[in-house]
Amino acid sequence: MFHRVIVIGGSVAGLLAARALRDHAEHVTVLERDRYPGGPDARRGVPQGRHVHIFVTGGQRALETLLPGSAEALAAAGAVRLELPRDLLSCARNGWERRYPDDRHHLLSCTRPLLEQVVRRQVLAACPALEVREDCAATGLIGDGTAVTGVRTAAGDLTADLVVDASGRGSRSPQWLAELGLAVPREERIDAGLAYATRLFRLPAGTAPDHGVYVQHTPASPRGGALLPVEGGHHLVTLIGVGGDRPTTDAADFLPFARSLRDPYLARLLADAEPLTPVHGSRSTVNIRRRYEETPAPGFLAAGDALCAYNPVYGHGVSIAALGAAALRQALDAGAPSGARLQGALAGTADRAWLLASGADLPYDPQAPAPGRRERLGSWYAQRFLDRAAHDPALGAAYRDVFCLTAPLERLAAPRLALRTLLLPRRAGGEAPPLEVGTPG
Ligand SMILES: Cc1cc2nc3c(=O)[nH]c(=O)nc-3n(C[C@H](O)[C@H](O)[C@H](O)COP(=O)(O)OP(=O)(O)OC[C@H]3O[C@@H](n4cnc5c(N)ncnc54)[C@H](O)[C@@H]3O)c2cc1C
Repeated sequence: MFHRVIVIGGSVAGLLAARALRDHAEHVTVLERDRYPGGPDARRGVPQGRHVHIFVTGGQRALETLLPGSAEALAAAGAVRLELPRDLLSCARNGWERRYPDDRHHLLSCTRPLLEQVVRRQVLAACPALEVREDCAATGLIGDGTAVTGVRTAAGDLTADLVVDASGRGSRSPQWLAELGLAVPREERIDAGLAYATRLFRLPAGTAPDHGVYVQHTPASPRGGALLPVEGGHHLVTLIGVGGDRPTTDAADFLPFARSLRDPYLARLLADAEPLTPVHGSRSTVNIRRRYEETPAPGFLAAGDALCAYNPVYGHGVSIAALGAAALRQALDAGAPSGARLQGALAGTADRAWLLASGADLPYDPQAPAPGRRERLGSWYAQRFLDRAAHDPALGAAYRDVFCLTAPLERLAAPRLALRTLLLPRRAGGEAPPLEVGTPG
């Protein structure tokens, strides 16, 4: 049992880590630099909050184990459930994917501030003793060359027997640990150079689809975009560009960029749409993994984006924050108070999403080392798998299990699926978006 735990950062990873620690610490205090808004509104400390956020099945299940009733609370607040592949029209590298019912996976789609507000309310209801200090920024760690023993804030030093850094991808813990003479984690970075431009729209009644649309960017066509229904009957639209082909935040450029995607469907939906916000940009898309599990510092853990941040185009950060907190609680319940084991549990949940995101982004990163024979073979297989998954229900189901974080990556290489991938011919996807729902057969 810990006496006092301090969590730096009161967004999803910090609040869920606090929830996981509830039964294993006498006092848990969350320090949040921002003051929370009264409603589901964007805030300074979470600039990504204005952009599309999807929440996949694995994350939803983990959240439900930590906070029973959260799926219902999200639905009641207006989050939209999109069944895959029925409710998401997706244009893959080789054309439009087939669309049919398959009740196993749903994406939850809502604005990020709504998601965070629901999580915050649920955590505070589940942990009445939790102390949350708003307007309170951590400015450093305290301790010495052997352990972290607390947190420095403008209002004074706070001691703790465990500090959890959940301050997001901009975390300063590596510097703070170095200042104490503790080991700095090895850091890996893969940068696809991807940028987002996002705007909220109201689509005219009668033209607003109840499905989402996703036009993937590809090496040959580095522009992509997504349109997703969110609460309030509105649609969030994110345009994506890689390298020199990035979308700007100039409102006049938004529709022309949407029209330049390799399929006109998304732009057509926007033809008479009413923009409700300015265009917001983000370039926080570098995959960053800090290997704290290799050199764990006594008294210190990192969670959420502070531990591993992914290119958001794969939609996994929030789900991994939930899966990480669930793994942390499981390790605590199993009696694993050693920091190294707890950090290992958190890092283990990051593996799948890291391999997916960093593997997919490697070809776009000019700084990445040239892939070896094994990596080239892996990419060739993955691409062949994905091309078939667009229309083959068996491969599609396996891919959705992996993408929705309910199955390990190895599922894609199961013998039956490998045979289908290698022996059946490659086929193009559809030429036009499948406006009617089909059947899997
Ligand atoms: C453009 C974009 C789109 C995204 N889309 C998706 C998506 O579709 N699906 C998905 O799952 N994920 C998505 N993500 C990723 C997701 O936003 C993050 O993975 C998730 O927010 C991580 O949560 P976190 O709590 O670790 O960090 P954050 O949510 O970034 O929160 C960090 C918190 O720490 C606070 N803080 C920072 N420094 C201090 C300090 N010194 N003292 C006290 N408090 C501090 C901040 O104010 C903030 O509240 C997207 C990210 C981006 C950039």
